[in-house]
Amino acid sequence: MKLWYGGKIYTMIQEGDWVEAIVVRDGRVIASGETQDLYDTYKEEIEEEYDLKGHVMYPGFVDSHLHIIGHGERLIRLDLSFMKSAEEVIQALKQHAAQLPDGQWIIGEGWNENQWEDPRIIHRDELDEISQAHPIMLSRVCRHALLANSKAIQLAGVDDSTHDPYGGVIVKDESGRVNGYFHEKAQELIKQAMPPATFDYLTHATELALQNMYQNGLTGGHTEDLNYYGGFKQTYDAFTHVIDGKACKFRAHLLVHHEVVDDMVKEGLGYKQGTEFVELGAMKIFADGAIGGRTAWLREAYSDQPGHFGVAIHDEHKFTSLVQQARHHRMPVAIHAIGDQALKASLKAVHQFPLTTGERDRIIHAQIFPPEFMSPLKNRPIIFDIQPAFVASDFPWVMERIGRSRLKHSYSWKTMIDAGLACAGGSDAPIEEINPLLGMRAAVERRAGPDQKIYQEEEQLSIYEAVALYTKGSAYAIGYELERGQIAPGFVADFTVLDRDLFTLNSHELADAVVSTTIVDGDVMYNRL
Ligand SMILES: [Zn+2]
Repeated sequence: MKLWYGGKIYTMIQEGDWVEAIVVRDGRVIASGETQDLYDTYKEEIEEEYDLKGHVMYPGFVDSHLHIIGHGERLIRLDLSFMKSAEEVIQALKQHAAQLPDGQWIIGEGWNENQWEDPRIIHRDELDEISQAHPIMLSRVCRHALLANSKAIQLAGVDDSTHDPYGGVIVKDESGRVNGYFHEKAQELIKQAMPPATFDYLTHATELALQNMYQNGLTGGHTEDLNYYGGFKQTYDAFTHVIDGKACKFRAHLLVHHEVVDDMVKEGLGYKQGTEFVELGAMKIFADGAIGGRTAWLREAYSDQPGHFGVAIHDEHKFTSLVQQARHHRMPVAIHAIGDQALKASLKAVHQFPLTTGERDRIIHAQIFPPEFMSPLKNRPIIFDIQPAFVASDFPWVMERIGRSRLKHSYSWKTMIDAGLACAGGSDAPIEEINPLLGMRAAVERRAGPDQKIYQEEEQLSIYEAVALYTKGSAYAIGYELERGQIAPGFVADFTVLDRDLFTLNSHELADAVVSTTIVDGDVMYNRL
């Protein structure tokens, strides 16, 4: 039995509730209360004592939507996300190319023209100037678009006569020439030409990601990776290999992209099956793209592109048949829906084929959320995965894309919570920084930094509501609200210890807190206390 004491332990049972100490046995909290009382009751059985030294313990932070292997790749690959101009990106690629043998792929991640002084899309010809000997593939920050040079385009077998695949666009210039910009499903054409990910590569990426997640105080994550790295089995095996439940404990909940559901079934696996720490989750379906690349699917046209409504990834028949397929396998669905039309189509489909298992469907992002959609959703088995950091990243450019009237009901986290909708908080890493404190700060502050403009002040969350998104919210999303997300007898011993008390901070200081210890299943996975 282990005793934790010596600092405030916030239970998250309700706002402000804390205890002095807890005892843990076999990965579960046995009792909580005053240190002396726990000593008196359990002194015979306590084998290990952990002094918090005045630091502050919370239920373990869980990211409700991210891509763990993608995050690991971001740690491996050329990171373009902090660059401030096209020239800076090009310069970095030139240096990178000089070190790589001819023929090897140059892979860059996270470029975002919206944070450049001169926002423009880099042209294929510019990439060819960097190298014609290396294929180049550069993912946009949203992962809904990529850039490719001529070598990559040629390897992909794409030329000016190639038709757009359904749900994707091969962008061409006025003369009809492919300009190197590939949207949504058209990205697959380029990606298929890349060398396949090996098992060793996947375990390496997963290990890097997990170490980084522990450092950020994360004890779990709901992640979507299984369809992108050489098949279901290899990717699933990479997770179970790395998260062995001994040296590495982490609560991984893996969403299953619809294209690999049959492969999952073939392995004899199903919803909420797996190992003690790695379990399979809902069927992931994309309804649309993202606002940045104008591929989020809207009810009314984009404010800065008349006549353009975004991209529906599937036609209605295919979309509903996917939901039916999930029901056939007794799976909830997890639908990526950013635009209001995508949300409408998603809600219609889950309404038409309701879940009968007592579990919950989830809508990921729900960024444009007309208030008239909300009231029918109260008490329905559906949760909303929100990414508060998008507010800090998407404003102000998003205002031009969607216009003032739609903006009123976009990123409306407070309205959603007050309407009784269950919300969970995630980063969508590698799209945003993985640090959950940045998400909490963005949810409370709604601005990019202390001197910046606040967007939609009325949608600011309290610090308690923000912390709840990443604790109770993430637990509720996958039906574990009676054993995760709080610190109480019977709950799992997953904890995040920070060097300070979030609830007494000024909101702009939330992300200044430093992770001291990350504990999963009662075992210390990371410690700098
Ligand atoms: Zn995502």
